[in-house]
Amino acid sequence: MDLKLKYLINLVIPVFLILVTVLIYVGYSDYKAIQYSAYAQSRANINVAQDYLNQHHTAAENQLYLLAELLKDQSDLNSFLSAAQYIVERQNKFLEIGLLIGTSYYGTDGFRVDSVSGKAPGRPWYDKDQLPGETFLSPIYQSKSTQQWCVAMVRKVAVSDQTDVRILLELDVSAMSADLSDLKTMEDGYVFGVDAITHEVVIHPEPERLGTKSVGTKRGLVKQISAGEKSGEIPSYEYKNEFKFSVYDTNDRFGWILLSGTRNQEITASALKMGVVGGTLLMILIFILLVGYLFSRVHQVGGQLLDALEFEELHIQLSKLLNDTIGSRQVYLFVMNEKEGILEEHSHHLRENIPPDLICRLSGCQQLGRYCRPEQDPIVRRIAPQESCIRLPLMNMSRHGESSCPTKQLIGLLYIIRPGKAYPLFAKMIVNYTISALNQLLLAHHIRSEDQMTGLKNKNFLRKQMESRLEDTDSRYYLAMIDIDDFKSINDTYGHLFGDQVILQIAALMHQSFHSNSVLCRYGGEEFAVLMEAPDSETAREKLVAFCRSVRAEDIHAQDKRCSLTVSVGFSRLADGMEFTISQADKALYRVKSQGKNRVLYAGELSSEPQTPELERNVSPISAKLKNKTPSSENTRSRECDCG
Ligand code: GH3
Ligand code: MG
Ligand code: MG
Repeated sequence: MDLKLKYLINLVIPVFLILVTVLIYVGYSDYKAIQYSAYAQSRANINVAQDYLNQHHTAAENQLYLLAELLKDQSDLNSFLSAAQYIVERQNKFLEIGLLIGTSYYGTDGFRVDSVSGKAPGRPWYDKDQLPGETFLSPIYQSKSTQQWCVAMVRKVAVSDQTDVRILLELDVSAMSADLSDLKTMEDGYVFGVDAITHEVVIHPEPERLGTKSVGTKRGLVKQISAGEKSGEIPSYEYKNEFKFSVYDTNDRFGWILLSGTRNQEITASALKMGVVGGTLLMILIFILLVGYLFSRVHQVGGQLLDALEFEELHIQLSKLLNDTIGSRQVYLFVMNEKEGILEEHSHHLRENIPPDLICRLSGCQQLGRYCRPEQDPIVRRIAPQESCIRLPLMNMSRHGESSCPTKQLIGLLYIIRPGKAYPLFAKMIVNYTISALNQLLLAHHIRSEDQMTGLKNKNFLRKQMESRLEDTDSRYYLAMIDIDDFKSINDTYGHLFGDQVILQIAALMHQSFHSNSVLCRYGGEEFAVLMEAPDSETAREKLVAFCRSVRAEDIHAQDKRCSLTVSVGFSRLADGMEFTISQADKALYRVKSQGKNRVLYAGELSSEPQTPELERNVSPISAKLKNKTPSSENTRSRECDCG
């Protein structure tokens, strides 16, 4: 499936929104799951706490029963107290065992108070309505003898000769609270117990909270419990400016309300933590995959630029790439014409000067494009006066020698009209690929347009130049066809290697004789062509005659052989089409050849020219005059060297 990059880029925001929605949903689900597990954990903690308390309750009840039996059977105070002492020493949750007999109180560790009949009813463990055989559980209080927070389990014993006999067993709620403090809900939650009648805290991991009024068991909960709800949930209540939840249960043997829960915020924070971590990882993963895919696609498409064989083709590929990646509407690729120092846009046939502000900027380090305004750049004024436009200079950077400063060479300019939002992401890559493709194309063009032997341009290049200059109506151009006279004889006389040297020297003379903006071309074999600008045919003729003279005057020497030679020239004004111009120049050249060679003839004079051979004014009629320092007997058939 060939997905266009710009569509993928446009997908980024919707995908992001979908991800956020998914994350919110996942976060909410996480919240619910964590809340469920926190409630479950709280319930489990309450169960453990209930078991623990029930065990202690049962143990205390058993001890009370045994002690009561002991008292019934023996009515021996000493045996009772030593048994009680034995029990207290072995069970660390029992603080004290006491015996109220009439007006005296006997406790473990030798504690004894007489005449308590007035005080006892005021103590929390004394229930005046308690019946013999019943067990009474006191509210929480601080033990007089040990100063510890405790509750007392009291059993009234029916002893025949005594009116009021009660056995009291004090249970250490601080120690029991410490044991239960390990039961945690999440990190901060804990188990605590509340007396259902007094609403005082009886179990709590913080010792200072014991004996204080509970907050979690406000009226609502008490009502619920009174209405017969033995267990349930309090989803939210405020304590110390924080909202908490608790689950509760009243099924322990003490008849306390056991509660367990934690701060609601802890659940939210955990869910958020999970959501954020998971979501971030997911988003990073998706982002990496998406960006990775986009970049690999840009590389893939960018690589296709290198296949372009012509500037027009490169322009089409580049337009497609930029449209696909950043959604740009139009692209202009200007290529630097080194020789003329101007920028050429081949697809739209534009020829422009380098924008003046760019010349200044290039001395700095402006590599990436900037939004370019029409008032700043004449090219923008021409190609996109009303639209946003990015200008990307295409530069070759090369380091020469030890210099740390790279030299920059402008090889082109890329204008992107209405670039999309993703432009900065891909600009560098696009520029790099365009530079590579352009360099490759320039090299291929160079190779395809040059004659390998002389370094002059070839026929192909000449034809393209003629085509493009035919459109230039402001200037006059002339095409001259140049042919070395009697070159075959030179080859025959001195050999082909010498002939090659002659061709090379003619090329060098052409460079010396014509202006640098002329197109100098080896048309084929020993024929050359010059496309030059001149105000009129006379000026063109003068330049060509001067060239002929310089050829004639040149003493060509190689391999110890020397000779002089002449050339014939026919030229025509570049007009009425390329083929017509070439054929006109050719005709003039053939006329010169047929009339004795060594002469310049303008095609415009063809009709007025006499058909008989006539020699050029000012020039003596010669064919190739050859010199030879070491004449070879075989190669001197029809011509002799003339040192003339
Ligand atoms: P004309 O004055 O009528 O032009 O006679 P010409 O002998 O110069 O022309 P012709 O076309 O008869 O011969 C051209 C010769 O040029 C034939 C070919 O062998 C030779 N030639 C073509 N290319 C090269 C080259 O690259 N090196 C050498 N040494 N000779 C070449
Ligand atoms: Mg020829
Ligand atoms: Mg010739």
